[in-house]
Amino acid sequence: NINIKINFMQTNWNFENSYLTLPNIFYSKTRAEKFPSLKVLLKNKNLIDNLDLKNDDFDKIVLESINNGEINSFSQAYAGHQFGHFTILGDGRATLLGEHINNNNERFDIQLKGSGKTPYSRNGDGKGTLKSMLREYIVSEAMHNLDIKTTRSLAILNTGEKIQRETYEEGGILVRVAKSHIRVGTFQLASLSKKKNDIEELLEYTIKRLHPEILNEADKYLKFFEKITEDQINLIVNWQRVGFIHGVMNTDNMSISGETIDYGPCAFLDEYNPNKVFSSIDKNGRYAFNNQPKIALWNLARLAETFLHLIDVNEELAIKKIENILMRYEVKYHDLWLEMMKNKIGINQDHAKDKDLIKELLDLMQVFKLDYTNTFIEIENDNFKKFDFMHEWIAKLNLRKQLNKNDKEVKFSNPQIIPRKHILENVLNECKNGNYKNLSRFISILKNPYSSDIPEEFIKEPTNEEKVYETFCGT
Ligand code: AMP
Ligand code: MG
Repeated sequence: NINIKINFMQTNWNFENSYLTLPNIFYSKTRAEKFPSLKVLLKNKNLIDNLDLKNDDFDKIVLESINNGEINSFSQAYAGHQFGHFTILGDGRATLLGEHINNNNERFDIQLKGSGKTPYSRNGDGKGTLKSMLREYIVSEAMHNLDIKTTRSLAILNTGEKIQRETYEEGGILVRVAKSHIRVGTFQLASLSKKKNDIEELLEYTIKRLHPEILNEADKYLKFFEKITEDQINLIVNWQRVGFIHGVMNTDNMSISGETIDYGPCAFLDEYNPNKVFSSIDKNGRYAFNNQPKIALWNLARLAETFLHLIDVNEELAIKKIENILMRYEVKYHDLWLEMMKNKIGINQDHAKDKDLIKELLDLMQVFKLDYTNTFIEIENDNFKKFDFMHEWIAKLNLRKQLNKNDKEVKFSNPQIIPRKHILENVLNECKNGNYKNLSRFISILKNPYSSDIPEEFIKEPTNEEKVYETFCGT
C-alpha cells in the first residue's frame, strides 16, 4: 500500500504522498507557518503547464495551500556530512506539500522552501529571504534551460514579513519541484536507525520510485548504486561544461534523483580558475570547481556505506564490488569530460594528443585569466586570434580540426549566457527596491542560453569593480 491519496481542494493538484508509507523516522508532519500577507510574486507558466497545474485560480490554490495547510504535508528527516563532519539534519525550513502526479503519470514533489519552523529547524527561524529564494528560482531555471538536471522553481511568494538576518530583510517562499527530495543524507539517517529494516525500506521505496526498471533484478541494490553513480557523474560533467560551482556539496545536498539541489553559495565562473571557491565558509577549497568530481565520488562512497551489508554478507566482497563501480566511474568521468571538452572546442574523433590540447588551453585560460564562457564562444566563432598569446594554440587547434570527420557533426555545447554573479546581484538588489523590471527580463533571456542574439550587457564579463568575490550562504 504505497498510495495515500489526498483530495486537494477539488483542484487539478493530484496529490499522492507515497513517502508517508515509509517508517516515521523519515519525516514529521508539518505545516507552513502563518504569514501576515502572502502574495504570489512570480510564477513559472511553462512549468505549470508541464505539470498540468494550469488553473485560473493558480494563485489562490497556492495561497490556500500555505494559509490553510495540507493535512498530509510533512518535512523530511535526514543526516549528512557537512564539510566532512557528520550531523543529524532535516528540512529545517521546508514543508513538502505533496507528490503531484501529472497527466503523463510522472510524480513530482512540490515543496515550500522558507515556510517556517519545523522539528528540524534547530536554532533557525525556518524562513528564507526573498532575495535568496529569488536567486534559487533564477539559477535553477537557468540550469534547466542549460540542459542540466535540477530541481525546478514553480513560484515565488512574498511573505509580507521582515525577517532578521544581518539587517531586516523581506521574507520569501520558493515553491520547489523535484523528482524526489531523497538525498544521500536520507540513507545516512536510515543507517543510524536501530531498526534493521529501515534502510531496506528506504532502498525499496527509492528504487520503486526512481528506478522501477531494476526492481526485479537479483543484485538490484548494487545496480541501484551504479545508477546513482552514473547520474552523478553525468551531472558533474555538465556542471563543468558551463562552469557551475555548487558551493556546498554536502551529502545532504546530493539528491538521489541526480538533480542539482540547493542553490546556496553557488556561482558560475567568470575568469577560469580551477581552484575557484565562492562560498565564504569553504576556507579549504573542499568544494572548489575542480574538486567537484572527486567530492561526488566521496559522497557516493558515503551512500554505499549505508547499505554495504545488503550488497554482500561478506563485507570484504561488498567493499570490492562498490570500489569497482567507483573506480570504473572515475575513469568514465574522465572519458565523458574529455568528450565534453572536445565538443566545446569543436573537435571530434579520438586522437592521442587531444587531452594535451585541452590542458594547454585551460592553462592559458588560467594564466591569462580568460573568461570561461566567452572564451569557448570565441573559439566557436573563430574569433580568438585577437590575443597574441593564443596564436600558437589556435594554430594547433586548426591543424587538429583537419582531422575532424564530417565537419557538420561537430556539436558545440557552449552557452552564450550564464547567470553571472554581478548581474544576478544587481537584479536581486533592484528587487529589494521594488523594481522587478530587470528580473523578468533576465529570466526571459536565460530561457534561450544558446541563442546568439543576447544583449551585450548580459554577456560581458565583469569589470574589476563589478566582480563578486564571495557568495554567502545568505539564507
Ligand atoms: P543547506 O546547506 O542550505 O541545504 O542547509 C543545511 C541545513 O540547515 C538544512 O537542514 C536546512 O534545512 C537548515 N536550514 C537552513 N536555513 C535554515 C533556517 N533559516 N531555519 C532553519 N533551518 C535552516
Ligand atoms: Mg540542503
